[in-house]
Formats: sequence, C-alpha cells, structure tokens
Amino acid sequence: MEAVLDQPVLVLNRLWQAVNVIGAKRAFGLLSRGHASVVHHHEDDFRVFNLMDWVDFSQHNPPLEVMDQVHTPRMTIRLPRVILLAYFDRLPCKELKLTRNNVFERDKETCQYCGKIFEREDLNLDHVIPRDFGGKTTWENIVCSCIKCNSKKANRLPHEAHMRLIRKPVRPKWRPVISLVLGNAERERWKDFLDLAYWNVELED
Ligand SMILES: [Zn+2]
Repeated sequence: MEAVLDQPVLVLNRLWQAVNVIGAKRAFGLLSRGHASVVHHHEDDFRVFNLMDWVDFSQHNPPLEVMDQVHTPRMTIRLPRVILLAYFDRLPCKELKLTRNNVFERDKETCQYCGKIFEREDLNLDHVIPRDFGGKTTWENIVCSCIKCNSKKANRLPHEAHMRLIRKPVRPKWRPVISLVLGNAERERWKDFLDLAYWNVELED
C-alpha cells in the first residue's frame, strides 16, 4: 500500500502541458480537494474524471495490476497515472543553465553565421562579442558556430569579419522539465502526454 502511494503521477496544467511529477499520495490530496482531475488514457481516447467519478469508474473497471490498486476500508480505487490541474496554467519557469548542450539545443545545431546544421562534435561555441572586447559568457552573447565560421570570425566582432548572425541570441524561457526527472520506464508510460507537452510548450522567438 505504501509503495503504491509512492508511485509517480504526472501532473498536467490546464493546457495539458506536463508540469511536474508528484507522488500518488499527494495526487490524491489534490483530487480530494477538487484541485485536479484524473486523466485516463484508453487507446486514442483521453477521459477526465473528478474523484467521485473516478471512484465510480474504478468499481466498474477494477484495476488488474496490484500496483494499480489503492485500497480503502470499503473499496479499491485505481491509481491515477496522470492528473490535470484545475487552476495552475503556467509551466514552472526554472532557470535554464547555460551549458554547451543547452546552447546547441536552443540553436538547433545550426551554425548561427552560415545557417547550416552540423553534428554537435563539429560545432563550437562562439562569443559574439569576443572576450577580449569585454564580451560575457551569457545566453545573449554565446551562439553555436561551425568550425569554419568560427575560425573565419576569429577574435573579431561579427561586422568586422563581414558576418551576420542569422538570429539574435536570447535566453530561452522554456525548460524541458520532464526530461530531467524521468527514467525510461516513466517516459514510456507517459509518452502520449509528453508528446503533447512537447508540441504545446510555449517557445520564445
Ligand atoms: Zn558556419
């Protein structure tokens, strides 16, 4: 019983974006206060239940797996795997770390000077304003660049090298929250929701 209530439950906001993973016990707390509904996925169909309807549904569709069963003195309820929040709309906006991979991710493995796509091993990070000119290592001053463009630009400002950025570098506002916390099994279990989250997450220009 304890182990069942420790199981992870995926939390979606009202826009069906994955925003968190919490324990089943906490999920039941949100459900009982009416702050969330259960999302049940059956084939291509997503159904949403409030707690009372979910209890009712559980009586008519008893859970098959032991790890799907939550026992109360009077009944057995299916463990929710995904819940939908009633109120919280926004993705939690955590600070995205400035890492090589995250810059490549933001720039989509595209050299920001010639616009061509490369393997990550064939890309460098370029300080748009070189460090010698006081350029900082920030989201706004770091872009990914191919080795050819990088050596052409060398230690100069872009206009001095007659080069132009294809896009102004900015700090990304998004964060792939889920990819950081999920193992492969969980990823597989929530695939449909994560795909939805992937397509619906708000991107910045
Ligand atoms: Zn290039």
